Amino acid sequence: MKKEKYALGVDIGGTNIKMGIVSDTGKIVFKTMLPTNRKGGPEEVLSQFKKGIKSILGEKKYKIKGIGIGAAGSVSSKKGTVSNPPNVPGWKVVNIVKIIKKEFNISVFIDNDANSAAIGEMLFGAGKKNNSFALITLGTGVGGGLIFDRKIFQGSTGAAGEIGHISIDHNGRKCNCGSRGCVEAYVGNHYLMKIVKDELADHKNSKILKLINNDTKLLTPIIINKAAKSGDKYAKQIIERVGYYVGSALSSVANLLEIDTFIIGGGVSAFGKPLTDSIKKTLRNNVLKVLKSRIKVSQAKLKNNAGMIGAASLVFYNLK
Ligand SMILES: [Zn+2]
Repeated sequence: MKKEKYALGVDIGGTNIKMGIVSDTGKIVFKTMLPTNRKGGPEEVLSQFKKGIKSILGEKKYKIKGIGIGAAGSVSSKKGTVSNPPNVPGWKVVNIVKIIKKEFNISVFIDNDANSAAIGEMLFGAGKKNNSFALITLGTGVGGGLIFDRKIFQGSTGAAGEIGHISIDHNGRKCNCGSRGCVEAYVGNHYLMKIVKDELADHKNSKILKLINNDTKLLTPIIINKAAKSGDKYAKQIIERVGYYVGSALSSVANLLEIDTFIIGGGVSAFGKPLTDSIKKTLRNNVLKVLKSRIKVSQAKLKNNAGMIGAASLVFYNLK
């Protein structure tokens, strides 16, 4: 029997740092979580980080080949730096790879959360059999990871794949990045919930309002999904429209790169099949003829643990 190899995957979130020992078959065999303590600033976050790694490396049962880190914000996988992560205030540029390597004398790899998720899907999830695909994470923001011939496409500084900032309307909604009409400004979780909140005033009979007892603060993609499943017209319309927006942005990706396979992950992807169907329909309507019959859209397979498994997959990807 082939002996399994292990990597430590670290997912730095705004609230918690999740750490998991992941096997080279993509299974989590041990996991732990500790608070990010982001209010204490970068020093405190790093100290929590080291504390977690120290305790998990103590799990002597598993021979760990390296540490993979998935982080939000601007990440340079080549330099090993994370700059201005949106979820840790006061954190400017930190070479986290250098710090962790020095402290633990082990191989360390880092990438942004969307690229890590794309590599995770390629090695262990929905992209196992695909040579090339784009992964889109629909969460607070809209992230993207591009896989060509089983390799992640980084761009010259690691900033490639920002599918969320493809504009679908040049006179459209203002986006956080300063541009207009970015798809993120329509389907990013915060933006989407705000749009729905405003529109609910015209949909007083929607089941969404019943499910949240008229308290729009309780609005989530899961609630919208629940309402849609019970037949609510407006909720179904929201999901259809998210699919239309995402599909419009992805049509540009397909036409530019001749990518025909798309994997959808992140919290908003809880909309499930009606969402992927709407994305697929929009793509087929908008891509060039040569691509039409080839378009495939599927849901990401690594659900709740995508962060940890994606981060750990950086080790297997880089050390293979
Ligand atoms: Zn933007």
